[in-house]
Formats: sequence, C-alpha cells, structure tokens
Amino acid sequence: MLSHDVLQALTTALGPDRVFADPETRALYSSDETPRQVMPGAVLFPASHDHVVALMRLAHAHKLPVVARGAGSGNVGGALPVANGLVVSFECMNRILEFDPLNRLMVVQPGVVTEDIGELARTQGLFYAPDPGSGAYSRIGGNLAMNAAGPHAVKYGVTRDHVLALKAVTGEGKTLVTGCRTSKGVTGYDFTRLLIGSEGTLALITEATLKLLPAPETVATLRLCFASNRSACLAVERVMRQPVLPCALEIMDRRSIEAIRPTGTADDLPAGTEALLMVEVDGTQREVPHLVAALKSALNGGEGLLEIREGVTREQAQALWAARKSLSHAVKRYAPLKINEDVVVPVSRLADFIDYLDKLGNLYPFPIVSFGHAGNGNLHVNLMVHPDNTQEMAQAHECLLEMIRTVLAFGGTLSGEHGIGTEKRDYVGLEIQPDTLALMRAVKHQFDPMGILNPGKLFPD
Ligand SMILES: Cc1cc2nc3c(=O)[nH]c(=O)nc-3n(C[C@H](O)[C@H](O)[C@H](O)COP(=O)(O)OP(=O)(O)OC[C@H]3O[C@@H](n4cnc5c(N)ncnc54)[C@H](O)[C@@H]3O)c2cc1C
Repeated sequence: MLSHDVLQALTTALGPDRVFADPETRALYSSDETPRQVMPGAVLFPASHDHVVALMRLAHAHKLPVVARGAGSGNVGGALPVANGLVVSFECMNRILEFDPLNRLMVVQPGVVTEDIGELARTQGLFYAPDPGSGAYSRIGGNLAMNAAGPHAVKYGVTRDHVLALKAVTGEGKTLVTGCRTSKGVTGYDFTRLLIGSEGTLALITEATLKLLPAPETVATLRLCFASNRSACLAVERVMRQPVLPCALEIMDRRSIEAIRPTGTADDLPAGTEALLMVEVDGTQREVPHLVAALKSALNGGEGLLEIREGVTREQAQALWAARKSLSHAVKRYAPLKINEDVVVPVSRLADFIDYLDKLGNLYPFPIVSFGHAGNGNLHVNLMVHPDNTQEMAQAHECLLEMIRTVLAFGGTLSGEHGIGTEKRDYVGLEIQPDTLALMRAVKHQFDPMGILNPGKLFPD
C-alpha cells in the first residue's frame, strides 16, 4: 500500500477529488484489453500540465512507478499498472485547446477521444488521418504513445506522421516542449517523433499539436471476393504495383468472414469465397471514377478472383466497415482467448506469409484467424486458445515464436501498430540488435533516471 504521507502529498499537489486509493477505483483501473489484472496503489486524475509536473516530481522523489492511461483499450498490456504504483488517467485533460483551420492544426489535451478530433476538423473541410478501429473511445494520448494507425495508414501514414509538436513531462518532472507549429521545421533533434510510440516510458504527454489535411470530397469502395487467401494477397500486390494508391486495402480470411456472418454483411458473398478484400480510393468527385477504373483494370484477370463489387453504397460500405471493426471481438466465437499479433511483412512477401500461416494452422490444433491492413503488409494474426488448457497454451507460445522468427526472416517487424507493452517484449531482442537496444536503454535513462515511467514494458528483461 502507498503510505498515508505519499497519498497526502499527492492530494495536496493535485487538490481534492483527484487522488483515489479506494479498492473500487483501483480495481477499475487494474487492467486493459489483455486478460491480466494488476492492482495499482492509487489512481490520479490530473487536470493540467502543472498537475502532471507536480505528481511526477513526487513520484521521482519517492521512486514510485507511474503508468499513464488513456482509455485502456491497448491490447499489449501497455496501460497495465505496476503493483502498488500510480496510474495517471488523463480523462480529465480532455479539452480541444485550439482549432486553427488556416494553419491546418489542432491543439489537444491527451484525454480527447480520437474521433472527436476528426469530427471537429470536418466542420471546416479538414480531417485527421489516423483512424484506429478503437477511435470511438481511445484517447489521443494513448494513440500518441502507441503510434496508433488504422486502415488509412496505407495512404496517409501513422500517428507519427500527423503531429507537429508535443508538450510532455519527463520522469524527473521536467517540462519538455518539442517540435513547432509550422508545417516545416528542422531545429534540433526530433524529440516529437521519439516520444510518439515510446509507450509512456520516456515522458507523459500533456498536449499535442496535430496536423490536419483537406478532407477528400468522396470515397469509393470495392469489395473483392477470392477463392483463396493466397489469391487475395496476390491481388494486393497487383494493387500496390500500379500508381493509384488506395486509401484503404483490408483483408479478411475465411475464419474472419465466418466471424462476421451474424452481422449479415457476408450473406451475399459468392459461393467458394475464402477471402475478402476491401479497397477504397478517395479524392475529388471528378477523379475518383478514374481511380476506380484503374484499380479494376489492375485487378481483373487475377488468379482466384470470384467477384469485384463496385458501386457499394455508403450504407453498405459503413456496414462492411462496422463488421470489419467488430472482428477484434467477434473472433472470440472460436475460443475465449485470442493471442493477438500484429506483425508486418513486406507486401511482396504477403502471399508467402499467408501460405505459411495456412500451413501453421494445419500443424496446430487451435484456429488461427487473420485479417488486417494488407496494403501495409500488416496482419492481425489471432491464435484462438483456451487459457485453462496448459498444453494448448504451451503450443500457442511455440507457434508464436516460430511465426515471429518467420516474419523477421521475411524482412518484417513484430508490430505494425499495437506496440510492445508487456506482451511482446520477450521478442524485441530478436528484432533489435544489442547495440541499438543498449542505446535505447541509455536514452530512456536520460528521460527517466529512476526508471519509474512504465517499468516492465517495451524492453526485454
Ligand atoms: C477493438 C479494438 C480495435 C483496435 N484497433 C486498433 C487499430 O486499428 N489501430 C491501432 O493502432 N490500435 C488499435 N487498437 C489498440 C488500441 O486501441 C490503441 O493502441 C490505442 O492507441 C490505445 O489508446 P488508449 O487511449 O486506450 O490507451 P491506453 O490503452 O490507455 O494506453 C496505451 C499506452 O499509452 C500510454 N499512454 C496513454 N496516455 C499517455 C500519455 N498521455 N502520455 C504517455 N503515455 C500515455 C499508456 O501508458 C500505455 O502504454 C484497438 C484496440 C481495440 C480494443
């Protein structure tokens, strides 16, 4: 338990109703999307940058572990508390501080819900491109810490590509101001990009200046059905080889299609459909029909193509997207626990990788369900297992290690968007060379000499 003196000092620093150490609140903030639970010592609700400075100074002085928290929707254990440590929830720092359409930027606090940013931007014909599937509830601070992305990343990039500046607090309670408000700027080291994706291990982000883009006039959706996973992946290659860059290029395998059947969106698929692609292009009303025609001519005649459905209405597209986004939970029909990977391979190796996954699926007794952002080569590979079956769990971990080694041998990477947290840190040493890893640890030490910011995450032991 945290001592009475520490709790009192935190309450004095933050004011009343901002420090909670009762069992109910601690339990509420003890987990994220992973199936683990760790009880923190207290949950803090700062309302300003100065509150965060004050609490970090106290945590530094008392060597208390600090775990930042947005919505707790992360699926790698990033927001899991440290036992008896502090959880800093940014729910009360949820204001949009400035919207400047002329300079195409928005200044936000970390607790703003991701989709609220896009909603406000659209009132002035602009949009915020990163679109994680959890955007209706995830907070921008969590997105920044994980460098979140979504289907639009194939054309527009990831969170890191849409941030101009940050304000943050280091592990010693120092204020860090990075970047600038202009669309160009090269002064000094790029700490903005360093902090994005650092998973709360270097600093707590208290403010972000986000870059906005002109919203496309229109979007067209194609739905493509294939006789095999491999043929769908070969179609991805055909799309990515020609000049029209889609704004989304998503894949679902047979088991994913089965999982969305209750939504009705798979009712009209042609017989023999084993894989589905959703391809979208955006732009002006004039250009989009030409972009669609170019894509269709690239795709026509491809191996195993059963149907290209064009002219998908907005309602149909929205239903398909809702079904696609529901997959994260819908796959649980196969087994209570999903071991959820989000590996990336070069697009040129996607077909080989999907073949490899099919073979892996035949070797192990549990279902493997794959879907994801095929245009980036980013697949969510889900091993569907029963946590109380020790043998199955051991096999799943063996399967995982084997798969990760293959991804790396294909020139890929461990994580495209979900991050490392607690769940993948054992594998980091397989991808990052020892000298590079040592330098990363040294950087962490500069930002957080006591090692109190999100300990036990990101780095292997
Ligand atoms: C159904 C579902 C769909 C998803 N789809 C996607 C997707 O398409 N793309 C994607 O990238 N992810 C996706 N995710 C994962 C998750 O939503 C993202 O990682 C998201 O960015 C987490 O945001 P959060 O507010 O929930 O953060 P949390 O889970 O609360 O925290 C995530 C990490 O950020 C740190 N953190 C939070 N706030 C701060 C701060 N202010 N300063 C420093 N560190 C901080 C935490 O310590 C933790 O390490 C999905 C998750 C679910 C459940």
